[in-house]
Amino acid sequence: MLTITDLRAEIDGKEILKGLSLTVNAGEVHAIMGPNGAGKSTLGYVLGGRPNYEATGGSVTFGGEDLLDMDAHARAAAGLFLGFQYPVEIPGISNVQFLREALNSQRRARGEAPLSGGEFLKLARAQADALGMDQEMLKRPVNVGFSGGEKKRNEMVQMGILGPRLAILDETDSGLDIDALKAVGDGINRIMRAPDKAVILITHYQRLLDYVQPDFVHVLEAGRITRTGGPELALQLEREGYGVAA
Ligand code: ADP
Ligand code: MG
Ligand code: MG
Repeated sequence: MLTITDLRAEIDGKEILKGLSLTVNAGEVHAIMGPNGAGKSTLGYVLGGRPNYEATGGSVTFGGEDLLDMDAHARAAAGLFLGFQYPVEIPGISNVQFLREALNSQRRARGEAPLSGGEFLKLARAQADALGMDQEMLKRPVNVGFSGGEKKRNEMVQMGILGPRLAILDETDSGLDIDALKAVGDGINRIMRAPDKAVILITHYQRLLDYVQPDFVHVLEAGRITRTGGPELALQLEREGYGVAA
């Protein structure tokens, strides 16, 4: 599904990713851990196509296509979903308006018919219910005044509505209480645990991995993947820290 080969990327002329390689197959969950400043968020932004995050070397293919050649909108339409550590607030635009436009613009880009207001509301309500999010939150301006936990549930509702093939979730567990953490973990499993989907979970802590069991755990240090293992690697890191780069 995703093949990253020797990726190099810089922000404002500073090289952050220094030859990063990673292969993600359909059906897999990959956790990426690593010290602050290692380049984890940068990896997410480069894959998502955020402006100013410039790939300067290497290659990334997504479903066989050259991802780096696509603009951010084309990447999303192709089924890439990026969950941010700090979801953006959009005063004046309701959650339903925003989500419907996001879904329909992706559907149009794929040559699919947009959903009507009624069809969309049905889908949005079903996803809100599944996530245990109050239906009223769908009418409120996007993320404005939402608590940390509500923003993350909202992001899961968004993911459920868009139905991506690959979700990259950056510290989606930060600042969540136990109930919200469980809701988000359940949401990831329900929406993304399927033979034709995959997840990259960027996290500092083992606790989310208790709910969403990774197939692979990677350590990203100084712009590269330096270690790869199974779930036991996350437990070892939690006990011992990252220590000296291997
Ligand atoms: P992580 O998510 O692993 O904590 P980041 O990807 O956020 O790390 O950051 C990697 C490095 O890139 C850090 O040294 C950070 O200071 C630097 N960096 C991030 N954003 C910018 C920016 N806009 N301009 C310059 N340097 C940046
Ligand atoms: Mg960080
Ligand atoms: Mg980060």
